[in-house]
Amino acid sequence: VNADGGAPTIFDKIINNEIPSTVVYEDEKVLAFRDINPEAPVHVLVIPKFRDGLTELGKAEARHEEILGQLLYAAKIVAEKEGILDGFRVVINSGPRGYQTVYHLHLHVLGGRQMNWPPG
Ligand code: 5GP
Repeated sequence: VNADGGAPTIFDKIINNEIPSTVVYEDEKVLAFRDINPEAPVHVLVIPKFRDGLTELGKAEARHEEILGQLLYAAKIVAEKEGILDGFRVVINSGPRGYQTVYHLHLHVLGGRQMNWPPG
């Protein structure tokens, strides 16, 4: 799960079922579960099961290209399963100034209400 030498996060415990989560979608490489503090009627986090150094988008390297694509496609599958294909938002916060709080890359899939722009 987290064999990259970096600090473990709460998401390791979710992946390992050490703390409960509501899983919305899962495959070999990707896990999607509901955010504990939802900002919209649908708020799902999509994460790689193997972090492999991908603590944040700002640390991505060429070897991560495939998993980054898989995460984005999983976001679409989640939107479909949640019935929000008519409109949704995918957000990645990267780094402290991007308001990232958990250092295991994750996509926020948000929907079920009207989104506004620009975000704060
Ligand atoms: P970030 O601020 O890093 O982009 O987003 C981290 C997200 O993880 C937040 O939206 C927060 O609510 C969510 N989160 C933090 N701890 C837990 C947890 O234990 N379970 C779940 N399901 N979500 C969590």
